[in-house]
Amino acid sequence: MPTAIPIVERSPVAMQRMADAWRMAGKRIAFVPTMGGLHEGHTTLMRNARHNADVLVASVFVNPTQFGKGEDFERYPRMLDRDVQRAGEAGVDLVFAPDAGAMYPAGYGTYVDVEGITTVLEGAARPGHFRGVATVVTKLLNIVKPHVVYFGQKDAQQVAVIMRMMNDLNIDITLVVVPTVREPDGLAMSSRNIYLTEQQRSESPVLYRALQLGERRLRQGKVHAADATKEMRALIATSSSGVIEYISIADAGSLQELHGPVVDRPVLISLAVRFGTTRLIDNILIPLAHS
Ligand code: AMP
Repeated sequence: MPTAIPIVERSPVAMQRMADAWRMAGKRIAFVPTMGGLHEGHTTLMRNARHNADVLVASVFVNPTQFGKGEDFERYPRMLDRDVQRAGEAGVDLVFAPDAGAMYPAGYGTYVDVEGITTVLEGAARPGHFRGVATVVTKLLNIVKPHVVYFGQKDAQQVAVIMRMMNDLNIDITLVVVPTVREPDGLAMSSRNIYLTEQQRSESPVLYRALQLGERRLRQGKVHAADATKEMRALIATSSSGVIEYISIADAGSLQELHGPVVDRPVLISLAVRFGTTRLIDNILIPLAHS
């Protein structure tokens, strides 16, 4: 149902004063940070957050510090008017959409570095990525001052990094994780899916099929993680043009790779695959492998 168009705020200081006023009035603030290019994955986070808030804020900010050299910062989809409309339909009251210059003015020199879990998987493939993510999330939380913040399971390692950071830095905000929203054929929704050619789009559901194959193998017990990843690799290689960057079966807590038989513990199966110049990631979290 169409609702009011959200207020758009571009100034970090004005956003803070607005948050102060809401807090003074006893309002509960929920927050959904995004980089825009909003799709149903994002709006599902927003609709969930709507139920848990008096005031719902979403941010749209393509954060330069989390993109590496040669990544898609320049071409990342920017469509603020459309995003504001969609956010409004999902119940957002205010869209915070700062300019890069307002977030990182001349002389900016402070970064948040989370150790350990940031060096594997996405962190290994994209050096500096999580430093940028942890930094911008800290800034956004300080600007929007929410009581509760929503993230997607789609970016499983991002969730792990932010949980670690919030814990380590005593950030007193509730974090809610929302399950991955998929297209009917299984492809995880992503702002980057629009880069895919028709051919690549038709091949891309193999990523979720491979994750499901890995999950079935692990749930059967006995199977070594290394054998399960080999089968997943073969499935992707034989049925798509995707170039596998990594396929991982890891301890869901530490993100350390598992190679042998998987014992009863939460496991994260994750992958990154390139279709041409488009890099897709996806994952399945198995709470307990043998159940
Ligand atoms: P992004 O705009 O890609 O930075 O994503 C903003 C938030 O939306 C992050 O917390 C993502 O994990 C989440 N998100 C993106 N795609 C999905 C999806 N398909 N399902 C659930 N959450 C998602």
